Amino acid sequence: MKKLAFETQLVHADRLLNKPQFGAVHEATNNSVLFEFEDVQGLVDVFQGKQAGHVYSRSSSSSAVSLQNMLNALDDGVGAVVFATGMAAISACFLSLLKAGDHVVVSQYLFGNTRSFMDSIENFGIEVSYADVTDITDLKSHIKKNTQLVFCETIANPVTQVADLQAIGEFCDARSILFAVDNTMTPNVLFDAKAVGASLLLTSLTKYIGGHGNVLGGVLVDSGLYDWTQFRNIADKYKVSDKKQWGLTQIKKKGLRDMGATLAPQSAHQISVGLETLTMRMRKTCANAQGLAKYLDSHRGVNAVHYPGLENHPQHERAKALFNRGFGGILSMELNADIDPHVFLNHLSLVISATHLGDTRTLALPVASTIFYENGEAERMKMGISDNLIRISVGIEELDDILADFDQAFEKTVR
Ligand SMILES: *Cc1c(COP(=O)(O)O)cnc(C)c1O
Repeated sequence: MKKLAFETQLVHADRLLNKPQFGAVHEATNNSVLFEFEDVQGLVDVFQGKQAGHVYSRSSSSSAVSLQNMLNALDDGVGAVVFATGMAAISACFLSLLKAGDHVVVSQYLFGNTRSFMDSIENFGIEVSYADVTDITDLKSHIKKNTQLVFCETIANPVTQVADLQAIGEFCDARSILFAVDNTMTPNVLFDAKAVGASLLLTSLTKYIGGHGNVLGGVLVDSGLYDWTQFRNIADKYKVSDKKQWGLTQIKKKGLRDMGATLAPQSAHQISVGLETLTMRMRKTCANAQGLAKYLDSHRGVNAVHYPGLENHPQHERAKALFNRGFGGILSMELNADIDPHVFLNHLSLVISATHLGDTRTLALPVASTIFYENGEAERMKMGISDNLIRISVGIEELDDILADFDQAFEKTVR
């Protein structure tokens, strides 16, 4: 059979990769916490890593492994591990790979909870520097002798800055620094993080991949590009015979087994269903976002629109080179100073005021007073977040209906 197109692979991934019993097209959802072995030697062998299998479902279950197989294949990785949430994947990655005295360089435009988590690791003696990741020169200026990891998002939220991913990947490769990318905004139908040299691909499955606002999850995929023998924090007991698996082995033992943020079997199933329609939803979301951005950009009630698909976006050319099929589903707008963002949002009726993104439904929220409230004004300024900024996560409704909802809200608020 000729190599299947990406969207065809997505639709058939469960039955082709996992080969479920009875000709089922979905892997069965297995709720067992414990696993029996006919000969106790089997249990011992799985414990000692001599044989694959499950012993206790906090560490692994067939449902989680099936989803891991699919996500790993789609990212062309050497292995994946799923977690209960995106934040669990990110925190497990940092906490299992880093030690006091290490230094990391992260984007100054981070998802709010990831930014907050950086304060926690600083309390454990890990040094964190914040770089403008749209500018490789600025990023390089933060690198030190003890820099172990560089971390950024592809398209930042809410102001949609696009990191110089290609240059960061080349730089990290040349210096043997681990490069971790949060790919939540541009799941692999839009962007191939491995192609720019990312070593660890972190994605919140709660957003586009699950896609329907009904399940939480996160994943970490190891692209196989990083040489783990260069990483000084791998414990001897996790230096397994396949050197490509050193990082994942430590993350699975420390970050998943010991920290315990395991993805529930039912959640793994729901996420795999979401995966089937990811390409279709992403296409529609991107097309709608482009249409809405254009509409807002020419509206007299709007001061500025941030969307990488607009020609006036500072990284528009870079975004064109990096992303396939569209520029993502997140945009933000600054209303004119005389429009109160809360009043405007209260006039929207189809569009939901909620803090979530990557949903089938179009969502909007005031940023400074909610998700970035904790950060304070000085840091918000550095992130480009003004007080009247509204973030919009564009859904898959008919574009005309979305535009009509904005139209009627502007009619009630623009003088
Ligand atoms: C939502 C989000 C996360 C966290 O994911 P959860 O599944 O909500 O824990 C991490 N990074 C980005 C970019 C996100 O949008």
